[in-house]
Amino acid sequence: ELYNKVLEMKGNIRVFCRCRPMSKEELSSGSAMVVDFDSAKDGELGIHVGGSSKRIFKFDRVYTPKDDQVHVFGDASSFVVSVLDGYNVCIFAYGQTGTGKTFTMEGTEHNRGVNYRTLEELFRIARERKDMFHYDISVSVLEVYNEQIRDLLATVPASKKLEIKQAGEGVHHVPGLVEAQVNNSSEVWTVLQAGSSARAVGSNNVNEHSSRSHCMLCIMVRSKNLMSGECTNSKLWLVDLAGSERLGKTEAQGERLKEAQNINKSLSALGDVINALATKSSHVPYRNSKLTHLLQDSLGGDSKTLMFVQISPCEKDSGETLSSLNFATRVR
Ligand code: ADP
Ligand code: MG
Repeated sequence: ELYNKVLEMKGNIRVFCRCRPMSKEELSSGSAMVVDFDSAKDGELGIHVGGSSKRIFKFDRVYTPKDDQVHVFGDASSFVVSVLDGYNVCIFAYGQTGTGKTFTMEGTEHNRGVNYRTLEELFRIARERKDMFHYDISVSVLEVYNEQIRDLLATVPASKKLEIKQAGEGVHHVPGLVEAQVNNSSEVWTVLQAGSSARAVGSNNVNEHSSRSHCMLCIMVRSKNLMSGECTNSKLWLVDLAGSERLGKTEAQGERLKEAQNINKSLSALGDVINALATKSSHVPYRNSKLTHLLQDSLGGDSKTLMFVQISPCEKDSGETLSSLNFATRVR
């Protein structure tokens, strides 16, 4: 209850900041840690920016490297309840490559992330409410790479380019995209694994490819009130964004340059959309990228948005860390 009040007061966008632990290599090389969590409990994060100066950023939550998946999901789970209550929701992870976006969203088999936990929670609540509501839950998994949509659940390649169509007010969809009906958590795990392994197909370096594309999971919930017969549709997007890092000088050519320009375009489009929503601007530029166009129904209006800004604790990454923290501050 309290949670929703906070949401109303602050608008419908919340920002959680999560810092990954130092890696073994960083620890053994004696790499300096520039981030401090002295006031993490109050949602504050400090970053030491040369000399004795320190900048403080404030977010709705700040997670230290010790905070685990259960803890993080605990704070995100109220968004899941909103989906079953008929709201559209978007949860996404933003940050430099290597800061834990995939760890937060996908996680690992033994340390599952937001995606799996969300679906598990949806089924748990649906079971609790089974005498009052009937829920149908289906999932699409897609990737946006170089402004093109690729269906990660399709067993045969699409015969034509996948495009976004508008079927009504607040109803955007991608005709031809596979929607897998899921009935329980174990089916979910199978679908998520299939999507994840399809990302690798056709790329010679999976990690590089996935850091340059947006991986998007769309969960569609159709609910029927068993008393009144009323039906509602809602949609939850879970997005592992492409890495936000700027391109190195030596890489600024050819295919890599094109990828970088497309990533830049879509991430700044996302920033512009959220900023337009936060400042209640009359024009929200959803159409400037495939990413924002896809997310349109789940960003703005009465939908709820949660952004994870993922950061590294290390000095060598502090430039990118500051730029991510600034991006996240701009949207809040
Ligand atoms: P990204 O998707 O942003 O490129 P990854 O999720 O692949 O980053 O994370 C990079 C590495 O750091 C992975 O080995 C991942 O398991 C590890 N990692 C990231 N965040 C955490 C965390 N909070 N706790 C433990 N390990 C983490
Ligand atoms: Mg990743």
